[in-house]
Amino acid sequence: MAKRYDFVVIGGGLVGCMVCLSISSKNRSVCLIEKNKINKIISDDYTPLSLSINSVNFLKEKNIWDENLIKSNLIESLYIKLFNSFNTVKISTSDINLESIGQVVDKASFLSYLRNLSKKNKNIDIIDNTELDIKQLESLPKIYLPNDSEAIDFGQLIVTDGANSKIAEKLNIPYKNINYDQTSYIFNGEYDSMEKSTAQIFTDKGVFAVLPGHGNKKSIVATVHNKFIDDFKFEANTINENLLERQLLPYVKNLKNLKLIYKHPLNTVRLDNWFFKQTLFLGNSSQLLHPFGAQGFNFALDCIKKLDTQWEYLSSNDKSTEHVINNITKKRNELLNGIDLTSSLLMKNNILAAISSSFIAKTLNLSTTLKKFFIKRILNT
Ligand SMILES: Cc1cc2nc3c(=O)[nH]c(=O)nc-3n(C[C@H](O)[C@H](O)[C@H](O)COP(=O)(O)OP(=O)(O)OC[C@H]3O[C@@H](n4cnc5c(N)ncnc54)[C@H](O)[C@@H]3O)c2cc1C
Repeated sequence: MAKRYDFVVIGGGLVGCMVCLSISSKNRSVCLIEKNKINKIISDDYTPLSLSINSVNFLKEKNIWDENLIKSNLIESLYIKLFNSFNTVKISTSDINLESIGQVVDKASFLSYLRNLSKKNKNIDIIDNTELDIKQLESLPKIYLPNDSEAIDFGQLIVTDGANSKIAEKLNIPYKNINYDQTSYIFNGEYDSMEKSTAQIFTDKGVFAVLPGHGNKKSIVATVHNKFIDDFKFEANTINENLLERQLLPYVKNLKNLKLIYKHPLNTVRLDNWFFKQTLFLGNSSQLLHPFGAQGFNFALDCIKKLDTQWEYLSSNDKSTEHVINNITKKRNELLNGIDLTSSLLMKNNILAAISSSFIAKTLNLSTTLKKFFIKRILNT
């Protein structure tokens, strides 16, 4: 007889695990299917993941927070520099009356932590080392695992199989291709910088983030226009540290011992619809957001927070769930429009970028009300 779960989640990344932990906290049964073996990830590197204060509060509320295991760093101020130092906006805890504006955690440690919590949870069954393919999905709402004649029956399918979702492609979900013509690189390195602060810097070469790390390994996210990649020599033995340090001024000094730990070309797809029938796409499978503003996981978590009290209605076409789904869809559209507008205004080396950046910085620095509104938008408070 087919085994029945309330939910099946495909993909055991950050988003898939968070979905499972949220569903299980409502005493619903869930089966998580992950392509790779779920082992503890052991790494000396620090892959920064910035969490907004809203995300941190939600995780703490759900008892999903262990500062030591996830190597968290509290952030008290964020500097946004738009092309030159005159166009800098500072956001600090005093602007929002909170103890922090967010935290940076190590993504690999955080994923290990979430997977471990999922493994220990009695409402979550994990099937790892198993890649679901369209052949196993043909009979929705049942799925058949490879080499297994028994079906898994479920109320709702949640797909979190990551960027450029193969499952979305095979289910023929309409999508747009988004090619920023940029590549994101994450480095660990040593440098002098301000404590408890981060910086987001827009330059003619790309967008850069200066972030804390662990021990003497701090982190830098460099999202560079592809035409400048050769100048930075990121993938060569002799990285052009001088050129990188110039982009990061005045937030980074004495940059040395850079180590490339991650690379991702920003050529991806964005689904037109993220929810239909019995399938919900969350996280990178629905859209890989540009890393500026660190919104990808924060947005997924915000969706999960909204669904946290609604899981039981999700497959029942209940009016209140329709309302939540519509709200999230509206929020998703606003976020995507905001990202598209920012990238068209600030990610080009032209006169429009110069005028817009000067206007944005001056307006935010002159008007406390607009600055508060801007903070609310980016921190989702
Ligand atoms: C450079 C960069 C920096 C970023 N920084 C931030 C940040 O600071 N803050 C923030 O909020 N967001 C950030 N993001 C976004 C964030 O990393 C993503 O939102 C998040 O990692 C998405 O996780 P996911 O679970 O959706 O996808 P993934 O992490 O890709 O997980 C997908 C999982 O599905 C599994 N899988 C795939 N196919 C199958 C299949 N057929 N069957 C079973 N399993 C399958 C994979 O093995 C994998 O485990 C950043 C993104 C980039 C590119």
